[in-house]
Amino acid sequence: MRKISDSGFSGNLAAVNGLSFKKWVFEPGMPFGSEMKWWGDKGPRGARHNGLDLRLYERPEGNPVPLDAGAKIPAICDGTVVKIVRDFLGHSLFAETGIREKEKRLFTVYGHVRPVEGIASGASFKKGEIIARLAGKNESGVPPHLHITLALVPGDVSVEGLSWEKLDSPADIVLLDPMGIIY
Ligand SMILES: [Zn+2]
Repeated sequence: MRKISDSGFSGNLAAVNGLSFKKWVFEPGMPFGSEMKWWGDKGPRGARHNGLDLRLYERPEGNPVPLDAGAKIPAICDGTVVKIVRDFLGHSLFAETGIREKEKRLFTVYGHVRPVEGIASGASFKKGEIIARLAGKNESGVPPHLHITLALVPGDVSVEGLSWEKLDSPADIVLLDPMGIIY
């Protein structure tokens, strides 16, 4: 996804949160396509991981540390919110980017967040703009983390029909590995 590589996302996230950030650290289960969980019993996921989980980062001065609940989340690229749904840690924000590949439209999904005021269905935002905060730990016991999905969605799939279930059995939706666009 050439148009959103060099997103500056990680640098933006570090800057707005005042983090001393070197790079992300991934445990088994966090990458795109993982079949197992990285939390709890580390058992199988219900479906292959449709995105990438960001939680641990390395600092120049030492050991990896986790992102804190409440961390500000800047947009990876420009977008328009198409829907916000509850998920098991907070909310998931589905956004259309305006980027097209052949007949498909690129969507970004930011999972396990709390959208900031003004970020609601129909709202547009710019790359780097703070759109949400990281949701906290809840009764699910899963530590706070940002889940990112990139999905190329055919024109005939309705925005209303987009859901986690749909992304877990994507059929004609093409999922992309977000790893290439987080820096
Ligand atoms: Zn995830």
